[in-house]
Amino acid sequence: MSKLKDAIYGFAIGDALGVPYEFKERGTFNCQTMIGHGTWNQKAGTFSDDTSLTLATCASIKKYGVIKYQDIMKRFTRWYIDGEYAIDRVVFDIGNTTMSAIHKFDGINPFCGDTDAWSNGNGSLMRVLPLAFVNNITDDEIANVSRLTHANKLSIDICIKYVRLAQDIINGNAVELSYEEPIKSTGFVKDTFNSVIYAFSTTSSYKECVLKAVNLGGDTDTITAIAGGLAGIKYGYDSIPREWIKILRGKDIIDSCLF
Ligand SMILES: [Mg+2]
Repeated sequence: MSKLKDAIYGFAIGDALGVPYEFKERGTFNCQTMIGHGTWNQKAGTFSDDTSLTLATCASIKKYGVIKYQDIMKRFTRWYIDGEYAIDRVVFDIGNTTMSAIHKFDGINPFCGDTDAWSNGNGSLMRVLPLAFVNNITDDEIANVSRLTHANKLSIDICIKYVRLAQDIINGNAVELSYEEPIKSTGFVKDTFNSVIYAFSTTSSYKECVLKAVNLGGDTDTITAIAGGLAGIKYGYDSIPREWIKILRGKDIIDSCLF
């Protein structure tokens, strides 16, 4: 079984688990399995923008074998306009910074992310996991993939940290993880990454990790997706509850993008 499959299924299932609870406050709900409806009124097992943009990135790498910035940005645009990589071709969630970058894209210059400190949502962090599977990828390339939509140094640095962490887990290296209390599970990239590290490093199975992540509340889909990607790599596809894989929608889209 490929590690990319472990990662992407772990990610997509985390996303789908979190979608019904997005924006809900910690302690006001208790997620124990995959359900439908809730915040976005979607069917159970529906993944969101996080997975679609991750799959768009995968599909580009699959086609070219290397990072082609303009092609990735074109695929993001097709997702936004035509619903490519989205379940039923419906885009029901998009971050402001990502949307403004896609609007700015002229088809030529792909680096459309804002550099200001207010543009540090988790919108680039939530789509860079496939980069961990590109041989010899450099920090500059990871930075540039963030810059497509998020060009502030904080977003860039956290993307690099996350991709390198994923690679360490892929390679079975010992990783030392620390997080800051209190755990603020917001969409601010630093809070999101801190929440991910907390959920991942304080649990010992895929299921435990993603349930801990989603029950933090706040930006549940993105935090659980990112944590689920790492947990998928660590514990493997076979550790993901069968029932959740069964309920997950869009498996044909996922499988067509894996490389
Ligand atoms: Mg989302």
